[in-house]
Amino acid sequence: TEKIIIVGGVAGGANVAAQIRRNDSEADITLFDKGEQIAFSTCGMPYYIGGVVDKRDHLLVSSEKFAKKYNINLQTNTEVIAINRTNKQLTYQNSAGEHQASYDKLILSPGASAKSPELEGENVKRTFTLHRIPDMDAIERFIETEKPQNCAIVGAGFVGMEMVENLLERGIDCTIIDHSEHVMKLVDNDMAGIIEDHLKAKGVQLIMNDGLESFSNAGATLNLTSGKRIQADMTLMAVGIQPNTKLAEDSGLEIGATGAIKVNDYMQTSDPSIYALGDAVQTNDLLTRTPRHVALAGPAHRQAFIIAHHLQGGNTPYAGVQGTAIFKIFDLSAGAVGLNKTVLNQLGINYKEAVHEALSHAGYYPNARKICIKVLFDAENGRLYGAQAVGREGIDKRLAVLATAMKANMTVRDLPELELGYAPPYSSPKDPINSLGYKAESMLE
Ligand code: FAD
Repeated sequence: TEKIIIVGGVAGGANVAAQIRRNDSEADITLFDKGEQIAFSTCGMPYYIGGVVDKRDHLLVSSEKFAKKYNINLQTNTEVIAINRTNKQLTYQNSAGEHQASYDKLILSPGASAKSPELEGENVKRTFTLHRIPDMDAIERFIETEKPQNCAIVGAGFVGMEMVENLLERGIDCTIIDHSEHVMKLVDNDMAGIIEDHLKAKGVQLIMNDGLESFSNAGATLNLTSGKRIQADMTLMAVGIQPNTKLAEDSGLEIGATGAIKVNDYMQTSDPSIYALGDAVQTNDLLTRTPRHVALAGPAHRQAFIIAHHLQGGNTPYAGVQGTAIFKIFDLSAGAVGLNKTVLNQLGINYKEAVHEALSHAGYYPNARKICIKVLFDAENGRLYGAQAVGREGIDKRLAVLATAMKANMTVRDLPELELGYAPPYSSPKDPINSLGYKAESMLE
């Protein structure tokens, strides 16, 4: 049997291990993770901090149980520090020192790290990032012991957005600082505007077009580029992530234009004995085939399947990434799939945009709320490039339908034809997606 080694044991690594075992009861699988915990629910961390998830244990998986269930040689608190591709050996380090292990197939799922620019005057005791369980624990401990009244959130991406709600839930006032003009670069400005109005209505302060330059006053004062000074008991740096590529780079594996590890359709790196997946890799956009670095759990799970299948001699390619993302901001849900206007403009694609506002379901049935949905589509043939949705209800459904339509290569002409199911609590006889389709169709050149 082949010796399979996996580096990283969370979304990508733990899944690929489980998938390989399901396919092959004999496989010799070793999994290394430099952390204490594996297979934890990263995505649940903001909700544990907010108290919505009441037990820390609910986010964790027992390492022993996992190793036993899938019959895996699991080595936690063990960092892989070098790969020797010629000998097919790697070097790992744990409390007992440095050791070597040899592999036939190596799978890299080292994830990404939260960016944390070193700033003058920063006080690590009150400045946090949120990427792993120890980060979450540190925030939780700080809130419990120091009882902060307010938090500065630097970065208006999805980690920042998800944390605002959860910090407010703990009675902590939030100020968001971002050097962009609008929050959530994932969506276009009009959609971001709806989110910003909602944040303000919830009492969140927004400081846009401004950046954090340095700290003073033992880290409790944030000095911004504009000269503004903000007082904050704690600061959350949510300024993005960078793929963990050092191991791959040091061993001469090819890195893509996005800065993440380059892989082929079967998730093989430039060395066919080494696969990679998850936040560390660059994949291609489903429709345009342009390189993208998408750090989301769904793609990592699919990529785990592709690798396990390929190891079995299967040849299902990874179809490409859509980047479908959804998040909750207080009472709003917002989501996007495919490419937004900024990216389409960068790629020089001739697209059009249709936006439609409607009620989530029949107006006379209680609690109908406004939703705003849009599609970005090829100006000539109507092919869908991207879609976005914001509102209080029915957003996940509309986004999922539009993501499916994109995967099925539909054009805007197909949208009026979709029969999505109607009763007053759910929709209208003409679903907002149908109406959006009519509108978009009429705009084709
Ligand atoms: P990771 O889950 O980061 O795992 C990588 C592991 O590799 C780590 O445990 C690390 O310790 C280990 N490692 C790295 N280098 C080495 C080495 N050299 N040796 C040994 N071990 C190593 N995605 C969604 O789709 N929906 C969400 O709602 C969502 N919410 C999120 C909320 C937060 C706060 C964060 C931070 C992320 C969220 N994500 C969400 C993203 C999602 O968690 C990631 O896409 C996913 O975890 C990526 O899996 P991965 O296996 O690539 O990397």
